[in-house]
Amino acid sequence: MTVLEALNAAEKRLQAIPEPRLDAEYLLAEALETSRLMMLVDKSRTLTEAEAAAFKQMVSRREAREPLQYILGSQSFMGFPFKTDPRALIPRNDTEALCEEALRHIRPGDAVLDLCTGTGALGIAIKKLCPGAVVTATDISEAALSLAQENAQSLQADVRFLQGDLFAPVASEQFSVIVSNPPYIPDALRGHLQEEVEKEPALALFAGEDGLDFYRRIAAEAPRHLLPGGWLCLETGDGEAAPAAALLKKSFTEIRILPDLNGLDRVVSGRLSIETSIQGTPSP
Ligand code: GLN
Repeated sequence: MTVLEALNAAEKRLQAIPEPRLDAEYLLAEALETSRLMMLVDKSRTLTEAEAAAFKQMVSRREAREPLQYILGSQSFMGFPFKTDPRALIPRNDTEALCEEALRHIRPGDAVLDLCTGTGALGIAIKKLCPGAVVTATDISEAALSLAQENAQSLQADVRFLQGDLFAPVASEQFSVIVSNPPYIPDALRGHLQEEVEKEPALALFAGEDGLDFYRRIAAEAPRHLLPGGWLCLETGDGEAAPAAALLKKSFTEIRILPDLNGLDRVVSGRLSIETSIQGTPSP
């Protein structure tokens, strides 16, 4: 079987997914341990038996709607390769808008907190792009944290990882910038999402009846973990930017809503208001 024949056969088997040819190319390149472009310059090359077997297995997994990035085992975020597997949500390109907004407010020496870090993508990318920042990342999931730690190690990023529910592991600490891509999908959508998304950890996705549970908790608790003038930067889901921004109004000022690469509102950020800093935190 040649590269071209293998791709044609896989494309047929993957008809039900959105981009069957492209996925087939990525999977075959992985099976051949080369890049997609290198593979495509010699489509008449014959696959070894081992390569053909490995490819067939990958195509079967994709046919069963396993996310491409779980099969390939990696996804780029802010230009860095992150290891991906079912321990954590796959980093999204949309989240790069959140990373860029956080970086606008981070100066060398700043203490930065990444809540619900998952693969570690935000915390690790921030540390790589602003090495002077002192980055802490938390997650309630031990499994996600073990993956995040593997990513920090392979990307050589000195990030402190702590396990616990939101701010619990940093109870007495304050930061200059808090960044988070928390779960934000309404519970009722469970079972109705793209099949691939349903294979990602539910813990990373669902956030109560209206999807706003984590914004409520973060808006209430973040003020006591921010230094005066500190910034809170959040990712939001469809239609959630305005309600999330409204939740920040009580303790934050300079609130802004920013779009992702598709032009959809994706990021809400705000600065701890001087009144809140001086008076101390309103009780939740
Ligand atoms: N952006 C993800 C999705 O809609 C959800 C991630 C999240 O809940 N933080 O697939």
